[in-house]
Amino acid sequence: MKRKTKGFINKTFRIVEYAKPFKKTLILLFVISVGLSAISIVNPYLIKLLIDDVFIAKDYSLLVVLMFVFILIFFLNTIVGIFHSYKSQQLAENIVLGVKRRLFEHIERLDLGFFSRKKLGDILVRLDDDVYGVEDFIGILIDDILMNVLTGGFILGICLFINWKVTLSALCFFPFYVLSQKYFGEKVKKQRKKLLKLSSNFLSFLQESMVSIRAIKVFVLEKLALKKYTKQSKRLIKEDLKLTLIEGYSGSIVGLITFTPLLIILWYGGFKVITGALTIGSLMALYTYIGKLFGPVSSLGSLNIAIQSTMVSVNRVFEFLDTKPKIKEKKNAKILKDMKGHIEFKNVVFNYNPKEPVLQDINFDIKPGEKVGLIGPSGSGKSTIANMLCRFYDPVSGKVTLDGVDVKDLKIDFLRSKIGIVSQETILFNTTIKENLRLGNHRATKDDIIKAAKLANIHDFIMSLEKGYNTMVNERGVNLSSGQKQRLSIARTILKDPKIIILDEATSSLDSQSELKIQEALENVTRGKTTLIIAHRLSTIKNVDKIIVLKDHTLTEIGSFDVLMKKKGIFYRYYQAQFGRSNKRVKDLAQSTSNRGATQDNMQQISEK
Ligand code: ADP
Repeated sequence: MKRKTKGFINKTFRIVEYAKPFKKTLILLFVISVGLSAISIVNPYLIKLLIDDVFIAKDYSLLVVLMFVFILIFFLNTIVGIFHSYKSQQLAENIVLGVKRRLFEHIERLDLGFFSRKKLGDILVRLDDDVYGVEDFIGILIDDILMNVLTGGFILGICLFINWKVTLSALCFFPFYVLSQKYFGEKVKKQRKKLLKLSSNFLSFLQESMVSIRAIKVFVLEKLALKKYTKQSKRLIKEDLKLTLIEGYSGSIVGLITFTPLLIILWYGGFKVITGALTIGSLMALYTYIGKLFGPVSSLGSLNIAIQSTMVSVNRVFEFLDTKPKIKEKKNAKILKDMKGHIEFKNVVFNYNPKEPVLQDINFDIKPGEKVGLIGPSGSGKSTIANMLCRFYDPVSGKVTLDGVDVKDLKIDFLRSKIGIVSQETILFNTTIKENLRLGNHRATKDDIIKAAKLANIHDFIMSLEKGYNTMVNERGVNLSSGQKQRLSIARTILKDPKIIILDEATSSLDSQSELKIQEALENVTRGKTTLIIAHRLSTIKNVDKIIVLKDHTLTEIGSFDVLMKKKGIFYRYYQAQFGRSNKRVKDLAQSTSNRGATQDNMQQISEK
């Protein structure tokens, strides 16, 4: 079997899986489709009855009955047609909703590595455009394939019933019809493509000529340009005429092939009428039915192109659905009943791709309630350590434990619910301040929210707003400064009440009043919690219990502030670069940065020396 056909069958089965919850609608739709295709082909048979049993037999009462049947068929056709469109659209939408939900849920569960590998635009297109491609695919399955097969099948059945010999003799030509349609269809398509390419080249030439008209004038190239213009125009006309010719003779040949079965019916069927083996009514009905059969056959024959184009979207959607998340929860994953917040990194090795090591053999432990500063030049792996703690990434080797349990053995939701991240990049959603705060804890009462906002030093500001806690943030509401956003994020973390806090310290300078408020808020949020401070400035980690220094993918120093200062190693040098006065070279570096603290660049420069 061809690869494309296999793919089509496979994807059809997979989509049918999504239709399982709608079994009843599916059965109902099938019944309606059968009914509709049967109704839609009744008329020629009624004509046969009219000719044979009414006109020739001169039966007036049957005429009346048949007229009522005609009227009934008309109304049934309309009503069932509307019902069919509605039900098929409803089924398609429901199936697509299932695919959409599954896709969204799946994408949400994929690891962060996936999001850094894929372009955002690509993800959005798959969630939106490609999903509608899936809807078109379902439309093809329900409307085009099912309806055409049913209608074609009914026509064939009724023709065979009327006279199988005449029917089969006419059908002999159908394969030629399908083949010729395909052959000439390809020819026309190829010529159209050629013409389109020439037109776009011509347009580019025109654009170029107009844009560079100055140069054309300066170099006196008008005549040359006109010659080129005429040549390209003539080529376009030639190819356009060729298209007209191809379309013309293709149409005639396909028309001739279409005409042949009808000719056979009239000829062979006419002969049968003369010999009395066929009634006139039957001949007329056969003639009309065979004419009608071209519709479904032609639709089914040309479906290939439509299927291929929707298959692109279907494949893209399933490609995402088949992407396995790298971070998976174990089946027997557990939660820690009375979690203390003891973090350990044991021989952790990590890289985002095997060619570039990020962390090598990292060992440290943070006791419950300890505050630890993590410093190192930009790109030394500080955020990566935080990411591994939250299990956004897993170590390549070694392990990260929480209260002695490997984080891989914990339920992911449990782990993340126990960790709060306060960073400068505060994500606020397009809703009210209250709802943004409630994201920290859905069950928080109004009092809890106010209490948290007070501890985060943001309550007074919120109350100064016209709508207070009901003020919208982002595009539709108030514009918040980065300090205010950060304090909101602190309030949200206070509401979450995690055991562990990761503080990704602000790098941008805030005015001293904001900074003071944030410092106070941070003290409130980190009180009694195990805290990992990713420090971009050294001024804030003076009071921590322990400092971890990263450099060249490894942990180079670890100890309390005093111990590291006494050691006079890399941390001492970083610190001197900020506060020291003895070393001239270091002093120059310090002066070149703001006096707010040694920045990432500062650490970078020292690391490189
Ligand atoms: P820091 O927080 O110390 O600035 P990071 O942990 O962000 O450092 O990054 C460590 C190294 O890993 C850097 O070289 C960075 O370019 C690289 N890195 C970070 N995130 C990714 C990612 N998603 N994909 C590939 N490389 C990454």
